[in-house]
Amino acid sequence: MKTKSWIIAFALVCLVGGNASAQINVDFDEYFENKTLRLDYLRQGCKKHDTCIAQQWLVQNSKMWAGSLTQLLDPIDNGEYRLLVKDYATGRDLYSRCYNTLFEEYRETIAGRDKDSVATFEEVVLMPMPKKKVMVCLQKRDAKEIFQTATQLTFDPTTFRAPAMPTAKNCIPLHVNGDPHKKIDVVIVAEGYGIKDKKKMEKDFKKFTEYMLAQEPFKSRAKDFNVWGVGELAKESGVTDPNAGRYVESAVGSSYDIFGMDRYLMTTELFKLHNLIRDVAYDHIIIMANCDTYGGGAIYNYYAFSAVLDKWSMWILPHELGHSIGGLADEYVEDDPNYNKRYEDHEPLEPNITTLNNFDSKWADMVKKGTPIPTEPVEGLGKRDNGPVGAYEGGGYLAKGVYRPCTQCMMRNYADFCPVCKKRMNEVFDLYVK
Ligand SMILES: [Zn+2]
Repeated sequence: MKTKSWIIAFALVCLVGGNASAQINVDFDEYFENKTLRLDYLRQGCKKHDTCIAQQWLVQNSKMWAGSLTQLLDPIDNGEYRLLVKDYATGRDLYSRCYNTLFEEYRETIAGRDKDSVATFEEVVLMPMPKKKVMVCLQKRDAKEIFQTATQLTFDPTTFRAPAMPTAKNCIPLHVNGDPHKKIDVVIVAEGYGIKDKKKMEKDFKKFTEYMLAQEPFKSRAKDFNVWGVGELAKESGVTDPNAGRYVESAVGSSYDIFGMDRYLMTTELFKLHNLIRDVAYDHIIIMANCDTYGGGAIYNYYAFSAVLDKWSMWILPHELGHSIGGLADEYVEDDPNYNKRYEDHEPLEPNITTLNNFDSKWADMVKKGTPIPTEPVEGLGKRDNGPVGAYEGGGYLAKGVYRPCTQCMMRNYADFCPVCKKRMNEVFDLYVK
């Protein structure tokens, strides 16, 4: 169990959710200081229910807020969860961000669907430091997919004393273009590097930066990114792989075979992860794992994970960033009984898959007139080509009833990102640069 040095008064309250994007023009300087407030909490539950247990408030050492000063309320309706910060005195929405969680993945597994199989996951949310007392709402969607507050905390900056956080080491600038308030700030965390791996780590940082910025739409937006590398060398190299009988005490405690899926390489130690990068101003996290077995994973506004594999990382990394930054769905089909996601008769939240229940709310406006819906896949495309935009059956792990925008895409088979995925990625990038 993690340290609980700061006990926080909190209450579980069910309130009406509403759309935080309905209000605009929050004046950053009136409500916030240029610092990053962090809330560590535990989410405990199973398929039927879950609850959040606050652990501690911290102020990150970066001494600044990495996000935009003008785009404070999240206009993108994606993700199962949302952080909403409200002014205590007036109830006005001040800051919001949607996100997904590893817990959400867990509850789709066989173990997670069992009501008796309760698990606990660390979660972390970041927000600009309030100047006045605020309500911090941890929200989740109800059956109609409207956000409802599940846990409400109060935070009063006038009585809060931030616990000291020692300075971390080894922050390496990799691609720095200016003011973090107007950039997409990415931190690459080195995982599984032993004492002898320092040079390899520095080389891999550069490789990962190049892999990300080599793909469109990252390539033409390269000047909108700041990239930093953070590494802490461990006693031994590699990460835990239960299938290979290997157990390693690595920097952020990651492991293959998460939820019984051998290629699912993730960490559940979120507090440790955010402690390690506490000196950097960051919007997004990449974990770069020094191991030679294929693996990775990613969660929207949470982190992206990829093993360092010479033949594969240049494709795995942008694919995972499609999830973690863009909130995109996988467009491939996978008949895996461990992962039993069903969309039934509603539209998935992700922008790049549809059940055709409300295609106009998806990418119908990007389909050329006369294209049949559903659309037959194009044969003989080049490896990187997408083919025309339509609605092709098979996506979101399901062979039937779910449709994707193109025959091929980075989110399906490592082709280029399709036009629908590129559009969403650019919309997300714009949230950070204004
Ligand atoms: Zn796509």
